[in-house]
Amino acid sequence: MTDNTLRTSISSLRGVGPKLRLRLEELAIDTVEALLFHFPLRYQDRTRVTPIGALQDGVEAVVCAEVRAASVVPGRRRSLIVKVDDGTGLLTLRFFHFRQTQVQQMKPGVRLSLFGQCRRGNAGAEIVHPEYRIGADNPLLDQALTPIYPTVEGIGQAVWRSLTDQALSQLTRSPPEDLLEDAADEQFSLAEAINYLHRPPAGATLEAIRAWRHPAQLRLAKEELLAHQLSMRDLRAKERAFKAPVINSNGEFQRRLLSRLPFEPTGAQTRVLEEIASDLNQPVPMLRLVQGDVGSGKTLVAALAALAAIDAGYQVALMAPTELLAEQHLRNFSDWFAPLGIELTWLSGKVKGKQRSATLDNIASGHARLVVGTHALFQDAVIFQRLALVIIDEQHRFGVHQRLALTQKGEDQGMPHQLVLTATPIPRTLSMLAYADLDCSIIDELPPGRTPVTTSLVDNQRRSNVIERVGNACREGRQAYWVCTIIEESEALDARPAETTAELLREQLPGVSIGLIHGRLSSAEKEAVMGAFKAGDIALLVATTVIEVGVDVPNASLMIIENPERLGLAQLHQLRGRVGRGATASFCVLLYQSPLSQNGKLRLNVMRESNDGFFIAEEDLRLRGPGELLGTRQTGLMTFRVAQLPEHEDLLEEVSQLAERIAQLHPKNARRLMDRWTGERRAFARV
Ligand code: ADP
Ligand code: MG
Repeated sequence: MTDNTLRTSISSLRGVGPKLRLRLEELAIDTVEALLFHFPLRYQDRTRVTPIGALQDGVEAVVCAEVRAASVVPGRRRSLIVKVDDGTGLLTLRFFHFRQTQVQQMKPGVRLSLFGQCRRGNAGAEIVHPEYRIGADNPLLDQALTPIYPTVEGIGQAVWRSLTDQALSQLTRSPPEDLLEDAADEQFSLAEAINYLHRPPAGATLEAIRAWRHPAQLRLAKEELLAHQLSMRDLRAKERAFKAPVINSNGEFQRRLLSRLPFEPTGAQTRVLEEIASDLNQPVPMLRLVQGDVGSGKTLVAALAALAAIDAGYQVALMAPTELLAEQHLRNFSDWFAPLGIELTWLSGKVKGKQRSATLDNIASGHARLVVGTHALFQDAVIFQRLALVIIDEQHRFGVHQRLALTQKGEDQGMPHQLVLTATPIPRTLSMLAYADLDCSIIDELPPGRTPVTTSLVDNQRRSNVIERVGNACREGRQAYWVCTIIEESEALDARPAETTAELLREQLPGVSIGLIHGRLSSAEKEAVMGAFKAGDIALLVATTVIEVGVDVPNASLMIIENPERLGLAQLHQLRGRVGRGATASFCVLLYQSPLSQNGKLRLNVMRESNDGFFIAEEDLRLRGPGELLGTRQTGLMTFRVAQLPEHEDLLEEVSQLAERIAQLHPKNARRLMDRWTGERRAFARV
């Protein structure tokens, strides 16, 4: 059997007219196969009758009982109340919308079979708006559990059930081939697993399904993760099929930079640089991710890599996700590169008009050797003469497709080498999944002389103590950050919370020089504020989370973070990484708004207990799930149909080995697995 039978159009199913077809296509369901991969969100158990005495709070159940009394209760919300009894207990049914015929039906002694979600309160068991049918001899019972599908407006559950019924019978007639090597050992074949999850039989263990640990789910999750892994490898192979310039630097610029620095590279920095140098020396594009905790010195590694390319006569592009971070890089790199006679070129969306065309000319002529900027570097109009290396800072905010768009820039010479830096360490297993298309280097050592940041949790009710402490520190010549959190990306431009906080702090801390920085300031204004803070003219910097990444002021040793409960642990860790960069003991105060949820307490305690980005990332994953961790809403990198993380984390090791074997031994199967799970559209969407 081939999978082709299931590839027939969704419109071959009964009931799918043009209107429904369009709606389904919006959900990327265009074939019978795609429909089969649209799995239920949850299930209702209508396979048995539950005695009223055994009804549990919050659980949906079928009940068969006799009407004892019915009455219409007047009031603000007129309602029909029906008391029913099955000999094990009394149940109240409540209807807010009802017709007169319904009231007449509910005569004492009438038998009902009904289904709904039970609430147990002081007044006993109650179901609001149950589905019901007159006559208990014909209860609302089904053979299988009832699937509830994720849906959109205009497609009801009955439609989903009818469509999947048809698709499942096609599946039974022509089951897809099992492509996993050891499929025979599996408890479920692919077709059986799909069938099971659409129609779990009576008696199925819903608990296991809810925990994502049912063997049918594991069977599918394994295959899906495998397909994902294979497509990442495929992407990598496609990129590696391009030619890249061989960079053979004599190390002159690197030596000159290092001789001017007041420190030596750490062992880890040196090791990672060697890995990069050997990649750059190959005629295929480097695809390397450098992971390193905040403050581990990734910027120096990037700078030395850039110098190797510049030394060999090539151009380098350095991109950062935000203007502020790009500007920081511009400043840091200028400090390092100006003495070497290398000028930097700046390009952001805000560079306009004459200045912009001059900049573009500069880049096209090859005159610009290191171009620093934001997403603006991706635009079609930006043409490089000899681009050999692209450095992307904080990659998790860039989509994979953006990365690929940039690679087009190197077309003349093939594809540029790519170096991706991330300060968001992710657990090893997860990185096997997310970065299967990249080689990883880890800077697992901090420069010497750092003192770990001491973190404390303080209730916002004790805010005045904290303000006093900040004032004292500033008057002693120390510097501090006061971070105001924003909830949504869109608020990044709303400066009011930070402005108000700065005003209040100025009133409360006379004599302390207080600066303010947020996303709405112009580049020049931001530059001025950061410059003054760096020079020590500002003692206390009130900021939004724009300072999250890249800001580097070693004398700042105190950070207050307001409403830390709103942020992810990885983000808190990033923020906190702005202090603890010098030799003085540093402190971070998480000024939370009480009451904290149980989970909120656990999460903030992780910050208090650890300064290790990898450990924090593991805990973040455990307490929050991977979507948040990787910012997937932006990249679409980690959305799966069945696979769940961290629930299926234990499968990743095996999946990764399996991918290796299948790619080598059964490339045809690899292709079919990718087609089956990632589909053409999805593959296309990634590029
Ligand atoms: P991150 O990895 O978070 O980007 P940075 O590159 O900003 O870290 O480095 C943090 C600070 O450490 C900077 O002030 C940088 O100059 C300094 N630094 C980098 N490497 C070393 C080293 N080997 N020894 C001492 N300080 C270093
Ligand atoms: Mg950095």
